[in-house]
Parts: sequence; structure tokens; C-alpha cells
Amino acid sequence: MDAPFKIIVRRRPEATTPVAPEDFATMPPSYQVTELLGDGIGAELSRAVHALADALPVRLEFRAVDLTLENRRARGKAVYDEAVEAVTGSIVALKYPTITAEESPNAVLRRRLDLSVIHRPVTTIPGVPSNFRRELDLDIVRIATGGTYDDPGRPIGDDGAVSLRIVERRPVREAARYAFNLARRSGKRVTSASKYTIQQATDGLFEAVAKEVAIQYPEVPHGVELFDALLGKVIMNPEKFQVVLTLNEYGDFLSDMACGLAGSLGIGASANLAFDKAEVVRVAMFDAAHGTAPDIAGQNKANPTAIFLALAMLLTQLGETAVAGAVRGATLDLLRDGIRTGDLGGSESTESFAAAVAAEVGRRLTPGPAPAR
Ligand code: ATP
Repeated sequence: MDAPFKIIVRRRPEATTPVAPEDFATMPPSYQVTELLGDGIGAELSRAVHALADALPVRLEFRAVDLTLENRRARGKAVYDEAVEAVTGSIVALKYPTITAEESPNAVLRRRLDLSVIHRPVTTIPGVPSNFRRELDLDIVRIATGGTYDDPGRPIGDDGAVSLRIVERRPVREAARYAFNLARRSGKRVTSASKYTIQQATDGLFEAVAKEVAIQYPEVPHGVELFDALLGKVIMNPEKFQVVLTLNEYGDFLSDMACGLAGSLGIGASANLAFDKAEVVRVAMFDAAHGTAPDIAGQNKANPTAIFLALAMLLTQLGETAVAGAVRGATLDLLRDGIRTGDLGGSESTESFAAAVAAEVGRRLTPGPAPAR
């Protein structure tokens, strides 16, 4: 079962006037997308996403939920109730950066939507400055719950402290199935990584579940690495690693290391996924790895690359792989060609970069001979 790719929320747009059946069949597919509006540069990023969405051959019907700090403070829990209802209804959501103040919106949404798996692709982008001289193309699939992150720990007397390390079969199985489906679809190999030799009960369970799932995908190569060794090997031989399946905190460490190697801490994007009982994606929330960038908010300087890559992941989830490929390819190719915002040494504004990507996507998706670039 292709769990991560099963959901298709495809609808025909609401017609305000009667539509003939032959016209109906040629109308562009339409999808509902919840937009979780945030703080800082969030408003500019949303405008950039809309400019790009307008150039796509699919219709994205955005429903906005206001997760700005001001609205969260004014409305409290009701805002999250609205967000959960909207995301559950639309199945896919695009989330903009939010300020963590009294609470972390990411943590609340993760808990309330039962988002148990995070998928973070990290690639080096030709032309984007980096200290790393090699090419990296990693898909990090991380269990979003447990590990040592769910228990804040407690002191034992004055001189010690203890916390629980939690590994549960269900999220490991969901993450493993997602990783193997991803690898099967893209002809890649999966590496599971943990400290199973030392954390024998917890990480042993993780590797046992990973193996159980691997058996169901005989065509997908599966390797096992100790997590500390993996870090060194990714730096020395990045080409040997493709899809990496790992536990919560390890995935967190590996994501930041990989982003640092790629020189692109600010341009990463993630999918946060929840699954139903049949292990099919129930909801998927896509976001940028960077924060709210308050120092440049409202100045038309924000780089929308990460949110565009998040949008490309969302389109892939909807099954619109050609459109997703065009969005991702156009964004990365323009960066490579030096069309960049100030944070990457370029002179584009948020608006002009978004317009350039939209135009390039339009060219790529227009039927006819391949455009010369
Ligand atoms: P937060 O508290 O929301 O995490 P922050 O400022 O601590 O905010 P980031 O928002 O990640 O952390 O910003 C770190 C630096 O990177 C800032 O100088 C910011 O301007 C820059 N930055 C982050 N995202 C972007 C972006 N999309 N475009 C341009 N610069 C960015």
C-alpha cells in the first residue's frame, strides 16, 4: 500500500453558473488547502505563495486560519480548535512561521493533530554558498514523538537527574512505511540509524520494527547504521545515503547537521504527517524550517524559497507530481542562476523572486517544445 501517496483531495471547483459536462471535464483540478497564518515575515510569504499558486494549472482553494500571536492571545484555545477542524477537513495545510510565546504552536498542533512523522529533504543547491564541497541529497524521515523529547525528566536528590526514553511501535511503523514508500517511489535505499547496541530495549525495538517493515519492501535496499557512525559517514561519503529513518532526537540532530552542510539552514522545508489506522496519511502539514525573521519583517526582503519547497511537497502529497516538480525545479534553478534574495547574496525582493518563480513555472508547464533557458 502506498500510504503516503494515497490521499487525493481532488475536487472540481464550485461552479457559479451551470457548466456543460464537456467543459466540466476540462476544468482544472481543485484542492482545499488550509493556510495557517503566522507572525513576522509570514504575511509576505503568504502573498508570495498566492502569487505562485495563481500561476499553477491546478486551483488551490486556500482557507486561512489566523495563528498570529495577537489572535492566539485574543482567542486562546478557540484558534487551535479552528485550525484543527480546518486541517482535518482539507487534509493538507501550509503553515507559516509563528512566534513561540506562552505556547509553541508547532507543539500544540503536533499533539492535537497527532503528527507522528516528520519528513525533511535536505539537498545542496548549486550556487548556494556552503563550506561543504560534496553533493548531499538526503530525505530524513524522523519519528516526531518520543525518544528523550517527551519527558522533561526529574532530579534525583541534589546531584542527579533522570528522564525516560520512549519508543513506541506505532509511530516507528508509520515512519518506516513512509520511508520505504518514498524510497520505492524514487528508486532509493533506506538506512535506519539508532544506538541499538547500547539502548538495546528502545532502539532495539526501533530497529526490529524497521526490519519488519523492510521485509514488506524486498525491492528497496535497507541498511542499518549506528547513529554516531552515520554522522561521520554522511560527511565522508554523502552519496551513500538517501532516505534515513531515525528516532526523534537523532532526526533533529541530523537535520541541522545536514542543513549546515548544505549551507541552507534558512531554506529547508518539512512535511509533518499524521496517519489513520490503515497507515494512510490522514493529515499533512507543510512548513519552512526557518523562524519568523522579525528583523526583516514587512520589508519585502524575506526569502520565500523554503515555503515554495514546502508547497512543492504539498503538491506531491496531492499527487500533482509534475506541478510539484516544476515548482521545486524552477525555484532551485533560479537560485543556481543567481536569481536570489538578499540573504543569499542576491538583489531580488520577496515579490520579484516570487514573480520570477511563477513565470518560470508557467513556462515549464506550458505544453509545447521545452523552453530554452
Ligand atoms: P524565531 O524566534 O521566530 O525563531 P529568529 O530571528 O530567532 O526568529 P529566524 O527567524 O530563523 O530566527 O531568523 C534567523 C536569521 O535568519 C535572521 O537574521 C533572519 O532575518 C534570517 N532569516 C530567517 N528566515 C529568513 C527568510 N525566509 N528570508 C530571509 N532571511 C531569513
